Amino acid sequence: MLQQTQVKTVIPYWERWMHQLPDIRALAAAADESVLKLWEGLGYYSRARNLLRAAREIMTCHDGRFPEEFDQVLQLPGIGRYTAGAICSIAFNQPRPIVDGNIIRVLTRYFAVAGDPKSRDINADLWRRAEAWVQAAAVVGRLNGRACSDLNQAMMELGATLCTPTGPRCGDCPLRTGCAAFGSGRVDRFPERTRRVTTISLRYAMAIVEKSGKILVQQRATDAVNGGLWEFPHVELAVGNGGAAEPLAQWLRISSDEFRALGILRHSITHHRITQEIFAVQAGKRWRCAAEKAGRWVTRQELDTLALTGPLRRWVDRRLDAPI
Ligand code: SF4
Repeated sequence: MLQQTQVKTVIPYWERWMHQLPDIRALAAAADESVLKLWEGLGYYSRARNLLRAAREIMTCHDGRFPEEFDQVLQLPGIGRYTAGAICSIAFNQPRPIVDGNIIRVLTRYFAVAGDPKSRDINADLWRRAEAWVQAAAVVGRLNGRACSDLNQAMMELGATLCTPTGPRCGDCPLRTGCAAFGSGRVDRFPERTRRVTTISLRYAMAIVEKSGKILVQQRATDAVNGGLWEFPHVELAVGNGGAAEPLAQWLRISSDEFRALGILRHSITHHRITQEIFAVQAGKRWRCAAEKAGRWVTRQELDTLALTGPLRRWVDRRLDAPI
C-alpha cells in the first residue's frame, strides 16, 4: 500500500482492509470486486489483484501459512526479488539483500559508485554489495538475533532520513567515517542522474450514457492498466485539439447534438498524462451498440459499490449527484 503513497493516505485504507480481511484465509475467500473496491483510490491495482492471487495460492499450496523459504516467497504472484528479500530479511531475519531507491543512494555514496545505478551491470554490483553487508550482519547476528532484519531496515531508514537526495545530514551519519563520497567531498555527485522517462500524452472522449435511470459502465480487462476497475464507455482520440464529441458519437451511434459536455478530467499514471473529456447523453429505450454488449447498466447507488480509479471516483462523487 505504501508504494508511491504517503503513510497518512494509507492509514485509513490499511484499517479498512484489516477490518474486513484480517488474515490470509479471509483475503483468499474474498470476491475480486470487493478487494478492488477496498483498494479504490490507491492506484497500481495489480498489487491488490496479486495480493488476492497470492493469498489463494498460499491457501492451496502452503496450507494457509505464509512460506519462509526465499524461493517459495519469490514464486508468489506479485513478489519479485526486492519484496522477497524484504520479507525474508525483515520478517524472518534471513541474510537476503534488498536494494531500493533509498539503499541505492546510500550504497552509491558510501562506495562512490559511478554510472547509472539502474543500468544492468551497476545495479548487479549494488545488489552484490548489499548482499555482502547483510551476510556480514548474519555473522554478527549470532550475537544479535535480529541483525539481518535490523541492517536492512536501518539502511532504508538511513536513506529516508539522513542520506536524503538533497541536503544529506552527513554530520549525523553513523557511516561517515567510511563513506567515500563524504570523504572526498563529492556527495552531490552520487547517485548519478538517470535519463528522464519521456512522458506520453493520452486523450479520450468518455460518455455517461443513461437509459431508463441507469448508467452504462464497463470493466477493464484484468491484464490492462487498472485491470478489473470500472469505467464509462470511451474512445481514444488523437492528441491535439480536434473535436472529442464526434468520434464518440459515431462509436456510440448517437448524434453528437444529444451530447452535453460535463467537463475535462486530467490526471497522470506513471509517465502517462491522461485527458478525459466527459459527456452526458440520454439513450433511447431501443438504443443498442457494442459498448452496451460489453457493459453493465447500474443505478447511481450501484455505481458507488464499484471500484473506479481514484480520479474518476472523485469526479463522479463531485459531478454525478444531480440527474444527468
Ligand atoms: S556520510 Fe553522508 S553521503 Fe555518506 S552515507 Fe552518510 S549521509 Fe550518505
